[in-house]
Amino acid sequence: MRSFDELIGDAVTMHRGCACPGQVLGVRMAMLGCQLLGIEEPTQDKRLIVYVEIDRCMADAIAAVTGCRLGKRTLKHINYGKCACTFVDTHSGRAIRISAREDARSKVGRYAPMGPDKNATQREAYKIMPDIELFVVQEVVVDIPEHDLPGPPVSRLMCAVCGEGINDRREIFLNGRVLCQACGQGSYYYPVHSKDKRFIKPESNVTKGTLETFPIPLSR
Ligand SMILES: [Zn+2]
Ligand SMILES: [Zn+2]
Repeated sequence: MRSFDELIGDAVTMHRGCACPGQVLGVRMAMLGCQLLGIEEPTQDKRLIVYVEIDRCMADAIAAVTGCRLGKRTLKHINYGKCACTFVDTHSGRAIRISAREDARSKVGRYAPMGPDKNATQREAYKIMPDIELFVVQEVVVDIPEHDLPGPPVSRLMCAVCGEGINDRREIFLNGRVLCQACGQGSYYYPVHSKDKRFIKPESNVTKGTLETFPIPLSR
């Protein structure tokens, strides 16, 4: 594994030049995750899959150190709003969830002199604080479904309402029809000229299903 000093450089570059405490925390977390799984060179292949539970500073450091990317399907964003990640070794099946301790910030003064720049103090402390003071580590089980793994799409269906293609079993089923989540459950956007400025109302009676329970031909 490359050194902290090398990795923090990559993280700061990815974070558009910002060397915030979150970069230090994220690099430390990713290094610990890889170390606990025995993965020396995480950027070399798609062996490691990381679930990131937040979309703030730390997430960039995790991506920089691990080489995991959304577009490679090796980085999963599950927005719990928590400073935590789960590192999954797809070779061994082992998974380690690491979360940042809530009280880490209150211990900063023990490791770095308090100056006028709180961020700088926090950053310096996070570089040297022992892992146990920064993180809670759990061994966990993550059952990654086939349609979430790297590789070609396992299915592609067309939404009966908007006509857009839906990859990898993200469709839903309503009265035997295939719908995308936007048409079936409501979307985060609405058309500019829509009179109704709210999210699109979901259709009712939507049921989650699988291709097995709904015999609709799999088109690729
Ligand atoms: Zn930041
Ligand atoms: Zn649709």
